[in-house]
Amino acid sequence: MPPPLALYIHVPYCVHKCPYCDFHSTVQQTVPEVAYIAAVKRELLFWRQRLKDDKRHLHSIFFGGGTPSLLKGESVGQLLKQITTLWQLSPQCEVTLESNPESCSPAKIAQWLNHGVNRLSLGIQAFNQERLTYLERPHSLEDARKAIQNSRRGGFTNINLDLIFATPSQTINGWMEELDEAMDWQPEHLSCYSLSIEKNTPFAKLYKQGKIQLLDEDRELEFFTSTEKSLAAGGWQGYEISNFAQPGRSCQHNLNYWQSGDYIGVGPSAHGRLTKIDNNSNIKILRTINRTSDYIESQREDGSCLLNEHLCTSQESGIDCLLMGLRLTDGMNRESYKKLRGYDLVAQQPEKIAELQKSGLLKVSRKKIAITKKGKLLTDSIIEKLID
Ligand code: SF4
Repeated sequence: MPPPLALYIHVPYCVHKCPYCDFHSTVQQTVPEVAYIAAVKRELLFWRQRLKDDKRHLHSIFFGGGTPSLLKGESVGQLLKQITTLWQLSPQCEVTLESNPESCSPAKIAQWLNHGVNRLSLGIQAFNQERLTYLERPHSLEDARKAIQNSRRGGFTNINLDLIFATPSQTINGWMEELDEAMDWQPEHLSCYSLSIEKNTPFAKLYKQGKIQLLDEDRELEFFTSTEKSLAAGGWQGYEISNFAQPGRSCQHNLNYWQSGDYIGVGPSAHGRLTKIDNNSNIKILRTINRTSDYIESQREDGSCLLNEHLCTSQESGIDCLLMGLRLTDGMNRESYKKLRGYDLVAQQPEKIAELQKSGLLKVSRKKIAITKKGKLLTDSIIEKLID
C-alpha cells in the first residue's frame, strides 16, 4: 500500500525579501497572477495525467511560499476548483494557505474559506515591533494582531502562528512575553523556529562580517526548553522539534512529510516524492524537483516544469526516512524504514543504538525509534551517527 498523497503549491512572490529567508521567491509588487494561475493549472493537469492510474485521494493541500496571500481570493478558488476537478479529496482533507498579516484582509479571509481553505498559517514571526523591524518583516505588530483577529472572526477554526525566536540580543523574558501573547490568541498550532543563518541571504553576509552574533548553544537551549515548558503548560503538545499543537490539531500536511508520505510539488522550486511499488512489492522513491526561475516561460508544452527526477537508492530513501522521522516526538516508524532499506535499523546497528540509549538520547520501542527530550538539540548529530 503506498502512503497518503498530498499536494504542495508554491507561490513564489513576496512584497519584500526578508534578510533571513532562503525560500524561493521574487519581490514583486504586482503579481503576474493570470499567467501564474494558468501555469499552475497546466502543471496540475500534467500531474493528473502522469498519475492517471493513481487512485489515491488527496490527503492534504498546502499553498506555501513566498506569500500565497498575495493572490486574489478568486485565484485561490480557481486553483482549488481545478484540483477538485482532477482529484478526489479525502473527507478530512486539510487545505492550508500561508498568509502574511499585511495581505490578509477580511474580504480575502471570507473568500479563502468559501473556496475550501480550512487552515490558515500566519507568518507573525514576532509579537514585538523592534524584532519585526530587525527581521525586516513587511508588517507591523498591529497588522499581526489584526490579521489573527480577522482570521478568527472571519471563521477560521484552525490557525497556525509562525514565530521566530533567539534573534540577537533577545532576552528569555522578552520571548516569554511574546509567547504568552501568542498563547492568548488561542491558535490551534504554533511553529516556533530559532533564527538560523541560511546560505546566500543578507543575514549570512552580515554574519560573515561579524555584524550578527547568534546566541550561543547553551542560551539557545534555554530558549528552547523555556518554549517547550511554557507551551506544554498552556496545552500545546510538541509533536515535532519546532511544532506544537492543541490535541488533534497537528499539521497533517507536514506530518505527511515527516512520516515519509508522498506529495506532488507544483510551482517553481517545488519538490515532490512519489512511492513506486513494482510487481514484486519492491519499493522505490522518486524525487522530483521543479525549475526555480522562469516558471511561466519555461513550462513545457505538456505543462511540466520539472528540472530533475531522481529514483532514490535504498540508502538515500533510508536517510530521508531518518532525517524526517526522527524530528517527530513520537519518532520514526521502524517498519517504514525497514520497507525502504530491507532491514530493521535496530537489528542492523545494535551497538550504536545501545550507546545512544545508554546516553539517554534515544528511546526504542517495538514500533518506533525516537530522540529523547535530552537528545532533541543534538538531533542532527544523532541522525548522522545512525546513517549507514
Ligand atoms: S515573506 Fe516569507 S517567504 Fe517572503 S521573504 Fe519573507 S520569510 Fe521569505
